[in-house]
Amino acid sequence: MSVNSICWDCENAIPPNVFICQKCNKIQPPKQVDEFKLMGISETFDLDLDELEKAYLKLQQVFHPDKYSQLSDQEIKYSTLLSSMINEAYQKLNSSISRATILLKLNGFNPHSEDKSFNDPDVLEEIMDIQNEFLEAESSEQKKLSIQKLNLKISETMENLSISFKNKEYAIANKLNVKLSYLEKIRIDFKKQL
Ligand SMILES: [Zn+2]
Repeated sequence: MSVNSICWDCENAIPPNVFICQKCNKIQPPKQVDEFKLMGISETFDLDLDELEKAYLKLQQVFHPDKYSQLSDQEIKYSTLLSSMINEAYQKLNSSISRATILLKLNGFNPHSEDKSFNDPDVLEEIMDIQNEFLEAESSEQKKLSIQKLNLKISETMENLSISFKNKEYAIANKLNVKLSYLEKIRIDFKKQL
C-alpha cells in the first residue's frame, strides 16, 4: 500500500501522501489515498474540526488556481484534480456521519454490505417517539424543547459512536452511525417546521 511513486519530471521518489516533489517542486498526479492521509491528519472519529479546517486551507492554498500562471499544463491538470479531491475529502471528514463511514471502510467493515433497511426496533421506537412528541407539540416553545431533546440524543449517539470506534466495535459503530443519520434527518425536518 505505502509504496513510493516516482516524480514524472525528475524521477525522485515520492512518498504516498506527498503531492509535490521535494526535489524539483513539480506537482504530482493524484494518488489513491484515503481522506485522512490526503489531509495529513490523524485517523480518528474525534476529529478536531479546527485542525481539519487549517489543514484544508493550507492544502487549498498550495493547489489554488491563482498559482496556475507559474505551472505547466500538466501541473495545472494535476492541481485541479488534487484541489477537487481535497474539497471532497474536507466535506466528507467535516460530517460525523460520512467520517464514520470512511473509518468503517478503512477498518475493513463495509457499511454497504450490511442490511440497508434499518430494523433495530428499539431505535425505530425511539425515533418514532421523538417525531410524535414534535408533531403533538402545540406551541413553538414546546417544539423548541423537543428539538433540544433531539440535540441531546444526537450528542449522546456521537459519544457512543466515539467509544465504539475506540473499542474497535465496528458493527456497533455502524448501527450507531445509521441511527445518527436518522436523527440528523429528523432534525433538518423539524427545523423546517419551526
Ligand atoms: Zn521531481
